[in-house]
Amino acid sequence: MRGSIPTPGPTTVRYGGNTSCVEVRMGGEIILLDAGTGLRALGRSLLAEFKDRPLNLTMLLTHTHWDHIQGLPFFGPIYNSRCRLRILGCEGTRKGLVNALTGQMESTYFPVPFNKLPSNIEIEELKDFNFNIGPVCVRAMRANHPGLCVGYRLFSPDSMIAFFPDTESRTGGKDREMIDFLRDVDLLILDSQYDSEEYQEHLGWGHGCVDDSVTLALQAGVKQLSLFHHDPDHDDKRIAGLVRHARQLVAKQKGQLKVDAAREGMTIKLPLKPVARRS
Ligand SMILES: [Zn+2]
Ligand SMILES: [Zn+2]
Repeated sequence: MRGSIPTPGPTTVRYGGNTSCVEVRMGGEIILLDAGTGLRALGRSLLAEFKDRPLNLTMLLTHTHWDHIQGLPFFGPIYNSRCRLRILGCEGTRKGLVNALTGQMESTYFPVPFNKLPSNIEIEELKDFNFNIGPVCVRAMRANHPGLCVGYRLFSPDSMIAFFPDTESRTGGKDREMIDFLRDVDLLILDSQYDSEEYQEHLGWGHGCVDDSVTLALQAGVKQLSLFHHDPDHDDKRIAGLVRHARQLVAKQKGQLKVDAAREGMTIKLPLKPVARRS
């Protein structure tokens, strides 16, 4: 949930210092969103849970900036022959997604080459922005971020979540396409790196501010907003202050939106929607 670079230390214990990585369990599938440094601990917990059983995972990458792929070489399941991992993402460089991911495991950077891994890994570039993972419908949309970067919306009959770890929301909720894409999601995990003052100094950098995140979430009728991609210079106190600020903004507008900041190890259980009855 941390942006740009891991930030371990006593001042980041509460929200955590690892970079972007979220696990989603939906429709019987295990879907991993991004492969930041948080992926290492997730790999440990998956191996502890599945032990000798086969592990089938799908990973959706938003883009190949370093903070979103750096955990992959340290992901335990890729060293396990019972693991199948399908990685989907956009072409991050002119050399393609495979090179972007495996290049970081060349001997200059890492001791174990990608082609020596015992697990079964498939890397596919997104050709279609609408696809399914088992019963889960996935839609991707371009994010407002330098290079080729997307966000995802995952939809099952029970719930809908959206993940935009790196995107600059347009000031004042002026992005109709984004509002439509996020319409009524139960949980929105959204880049909210800056406060509004900091944002003025980083216009066009591809990251958003808390005020715009709240506006966007309210306009889209989102139920729960998870502030994400915390600035490396923001300590726990600062992030807690941003959460308070966000909640005040919601209260001022008499909104129902729940807001929190993503933190390491946090689990969010989505309420099941009542099944629509046909009359
Ligand atoms: Zn990032
Ligand atoms: Zn990025």
